[in-house]
Amino acid sequence: SVSKLRTRIYEANREAARFFYAKLTSKEGAEGLAYLRNRGLADSTIRHFGLGFAPDERFALGNHLRSRGFTENEMIAANLVFKSRSGNSVLDRFYNRVMFPIIDVRGNVIAFGGRIMTDQKPKYLNTSDTLVFNKSYNLFSLNNAKNSKNDALILCEGYMDVISLNQAGFTNAVATLGTALTADQAALMKRYCKEVIICYDADEAGQKATARAIDILRRAGLVVKVISIPDGKDPDEFIRRHGDKGHAAFQNVLDNSGNDMEYRMQKLKSRYDLNNPQDKLNYLNEGVKLLCELDNPMERDIYASRLSDETDVSKASILEQVKQGMRRKERYRRKNEFSQLQKDISARDD
Ligand code: ATP
Ligand code: MN
Ligand code: MN
Ligand code: MN
Repeated sequence: SVSKLRTRIYEANREAARFFYAKLTSKEGAEGLAYLRNRGLADSTIRHFGLGFAPDERFALGNHLRSRGFTENEMIAANLVFKSRSGNSVLDRFYNRVMFPIIDVRGNVIAFGGRIMTDQKPKYLNTSDTLVFNKSYNLFSLNNAKNSKNDALILCEGYMDVISLNQAGFTNAVATLGTALTADQAALMKRYCKEVIICYDADEAGQKATARAIDILRRAGLVVKVISIPDGKDPDEFIRRHGDKGHAAFQNVLDNSGNDMEYRMQKLKSRYDLNNPQDKLNYLNEGVKLLCELDNPMERDIYASRLSDETDVSKASILEQVKQGMRRKERYRRKNEFSQLQKDISARDD
């Protein structure tokens, strides 16, 4: 039955995690262990996250699981092996990679991420969706983060970011699993925290993803803050760069994190030359659009003051524009609601 198969997948994954960990700490895994140590991970961190090594062979895990009583069907359903082209054998999905087990909030090993140790592609290979794993519904290290006595979660892009943050004492870090943040993941976070601090990579992709994540988290009813990594391309590199002082350095970044609105206004401003009157007007118009999204009048007031200070345009006229903009939005919303209603009615008539 499906529920029996689900249980077997959990069991196969747990056995695979044990296998990968044993390999990492054996002669065969020397390269993997060296790789992780080279990236600054302490052995205690490696053990805590149950990191492992998939040897450079195509039958290693499959043979091991078979010897432990798992059927090919079960291994395939766990996405740990796949049928060879001839159909006569099954091949390991993961080989010659360092392995990151993905563990759900109940402590089940639900999937793996595997990183190649060179510049080859793909850099990371993850378990595809299975009966027990959907990459859009889960977050890496939420099992650790949910126990941290902190009202906020730190949201990063990658496994190594989360692990470095943990090693530096920030156990409330989680990461998405190689996809853009989803509404389901935001809802999952909402069960464990009130606030999310986005800490994505400093590159352009990371900044685009930040803008999208802000919207999704806000819609889930979370308080959102954003961190910009000052030097280094991601939290992992930032912490490594600061060595023994990694904790203090990152704490300092956290203390200076702005809320999502500050982040958006700062991004917006950087695109305009405020000495140029046309640019200034465009900036004001775009800024007013951002203010129109704020439900809280005090929040609108705060950022209207800031816009006014930056542009020397009176706060009263900025707030007047915001009022008009909000009315326009409201009319638009009602109109849509009405035409939806009409559609519903005519659908019923059919
Ligand atoms: P590293 O520090 O090991 O080089 P990273 O975490 O900085 O990795 P990024 O390239 O910034 O890697 O990607 C962020 C995250 O996106 C990764 O941790 C991984 O979860 C996911 N990812 C990256 N490349 C892939 C890929 N080819 N397939 C699936 N997921 C990927
Ligand atoms: Mn990146
Ligand atoms: Mn990185
Ligand atoms: Mn990165």
